[in-house]
Amino acid sequence: MESCIFCRIVKKEIPANLLYEGEEAIAFPDVSPMAPVHLLIIPKRHFSHLGEMADKDLGIIQEMYKAAQLLAKQKGVSETGYRLAMNVNREGGQSVFHVHLHLLAGRQMGPSLVG
Ligand code: 5GP
Ligand code: ZN
Repeated sequence: MESCIFCRIVKKEIPANLLYEGEEAIAFPDVSPMAPVHLLIIPKRHFSHLGEMADKDLGIIQEMYKAAQLLAKQKGVSETGYRLAMNVNREGGQSVFHVHLHLLAGRQMGPSLVG
C-alpha cells in the first residue's frame, strides 16, 4: 500500500534497523520506545488490522510469534519476561493501520492492560 509507513519500511523506502527478516514478517525497533526494549513485528503484506486477515493468512501470525520468541532470546529478556501486545482498530488504540505486534521488555510491566 503506497501511503502506508510500514509498507514503506518493508520496501526499504524508509530505513529501519531490521532485527528479523523471515518469509512473511520483519521486525524493527519502535521509533518512540515505551520500554528499554520495544520492537515491532509486522507482516510483509499489508493488512490494516487483525480483522482483515483471513484464515489462510494466520500462518503469518504464527511466524510473528516465533519471531517474538527468537528476538526475546536475542535481547536477553526471554527469562525475565516481556509483553506482546497488538492493538486492533480504532478503539483498540491502533494508530498505524498495518498489523503489528509490539514486543516490550526491560522493565516491570504494570498489572493492568486497560488504560
Ligand atoms: P499502534 O499505536 O498502532 O499500536 O503502534 C504504532 C507504533 O508504531 C507506535 O508505537 C509508534 O511509535 C510506531 N511508529 C510509528 N511510525 C513509525 C515509524 O516510522 N518507524 C518506526 N520504527 N515506528 C513507528
Ligand atoms: Zn502497510
